[in-house]
Amino acid sequence: MKIVVDHDSGYVPVGYILYPVDDNGEWYPRTHPNLLIESDWDYLLLASIYGYVPCTNGCTDGSVDCRCTGKTSTDMIAEAIEILNTNLGVIVESDIYAYQLREA
Ligand SMILES: [Zn+2]
Repeated sequence: MKIVVDHDSGYVPVGYILYPVDDNGEWYPRTHPNLLIESDWDYLLLASIYGYVPCTNGCTDGSVDCRCTGKTSTDMIAEAIEILNTNLGVIVESDIYAYQLREA
């Protein structure tokens, strides 16, 4: 399914909002269904829809430090936030959150 990540401090002070995109490629801020992603740890998975990979060797999903590069979990969360902030409003194809969005 097509989805999009947005940030809206008037709606969710800290975190991101995930919206489904309709068949016409449209999405509407503050409408339901949506998913609020408010935990730092969840930013790692959320950023993966925009291609973020914490470790290209697969040694970590970002929740523990990377043995290959020495990056800490905090570093990787910061990277995920940067990816998310540079992709706000960018529509992507991903089924990672399809179940949760259908239930939202
Ligand atoms: Zn690694």
